[in-house]
Amino acid sequence: MRLSRFGRKFTGDSGTLKLMDDLGEAFGSGREMINLGGGNPSHIPRMEETFRAQLAALAQRPGELERAMGDYSGPSGDRTFRGAVADLLRAEHGWDVGPDHVCVTNGSQAGFFALFNLLAGPDEDGGERRILLPMAPEYIGYADIGVGPGLFVSHRPSFEFLEDRFFKYRVDLDDLEVRDDIAALCVSRPTNPTGNVLTDDELASLHGLARERDIPLILDNAYGVPFPGILFRDVRPLWDESVILFMSLSKLGLPGLRTGIVVADPALVRALASANALMTLAPCAFGPALVRGLFESGEVIALSREVVRPHYEARAARAAATLLDDLQDCDVLLHRPEGAIFLWLWCRGIPVSSAELYERLKRRGVVVVSGEHFFPGLEHDPWPHKSECMRLTYSDSPEKVETGLAIVAEEVRRAYREG
Ligand code: PLP
Repeated sequence: MRLSRFGRKFTGDSGTLKLMDDLGEAFGSGREMINLGGGNPSHIPRMEETFRAQLAALAQRPGELERAMGDYSGPSGDRTFRGAVADLLRAEHGWDVGPDHVCVTNGSQAGFFALFNLLAGPDEDGGERRILLPMAPEYIGYADIGVGPGLFVSHRPSFEFLEDRFFKYRVDLDDLEVRDDIAALCVSRPTNPTGNVLTDDELASLHGLARERDIPLILDNAYGVPFPGILFRDVRPLWDESVILFMSLSKLGLPGLRTGIVVADPALVRALASANALMTLAPCAFGPALVRGLFESGEVIALSREVVRPHYEARAARAAATLLDDLQDCDVLLHRPEGAIFLWLWCRGIPVSSAELYERLKRRGVVVVSGEHFFPGLEHDPWPHKSECMRLTYSDSPEKVETGLAIVAEEVRRAYREG
């Protein structure tokens, strides 16, 4: 098969493909694997009952299920749903938004692909524009989605060392340079993979920098408020027309419906809608149809606060305590879990790379994600920290997570002891 440059890039090694392959293997091979790897959300019974009830109600309303399955929506998504999203955000956060500020995408990953390549890459004057990630580790899904090479510029964070063997990454604002070739800043908050939540001050500084340069600040809110609300800190949400806010139904428990939601300046929404039209004709209509009632009633917010957040907060505390307890005799630290669905384990000075640990764990039936995939923009930085970390998801059943974490601890201890 003779591939284009794009073809080679998109079929080459990538952390995202490895992750999704592992996830497929963990669930589909018949071999009993413990998945501490992929970002699958928990199956929360109360959420699943709610989705079933919404599905039954959708099927009862004359013509609605048929429209959701049988009609293309417009390229920015169903207008009634976009209106419901805007109403919810206006009521909850007081943001001045309407349906024209909202675009639906086939999952936020597809939205990021379109957006990053709309804003960055080769420009008309022969220059190259890039996306600045103010600090890495950052979300693995960004890493390989530039059509051209070198789409990201990133920076090492600084470290805050906390009590009880926790630490927190901080944006190193002194080191942060926004060069002229930067097309946008982008951060996930809460952050995948670390569970970090940028402080209000950090976010305000990044927002200020973006506004100074008249470039957008892309905020990836896949775990944030008002839904799914997997955020354990009391921080202020942020939006204005210089912010491009990404949200998703996935971590509410609906990743199979591939529904992302972008809130942005209407001109940007039109650009994304064009990309939707070319890539997919129209975004998925089924996800929006299923949850529209929950948005119109505001129930999605109550569920996020009362069901989703407490579920993950309890899981995070339990998983962190188990792992730190199992690794008392090793020089490891955990990033403080402030949101999202992951533990980020830092094995200081470990003599074995996280890629090798990943392979050893896979042979023992436990899938994790090796840390080095989470440094987009720092690919050429020989920083040892990149291969001392791993991401562990705690969304599976507590029994499985605990069995998996015990195996992780055994392998980490063995690596410190024997190399
Ligand atoms: N952004 C972050 C930070 C994520 O963790 C994920 C998924 O894990 C996504 C975006 C993509 O979500 P989806 O494409 O399922 O909406």
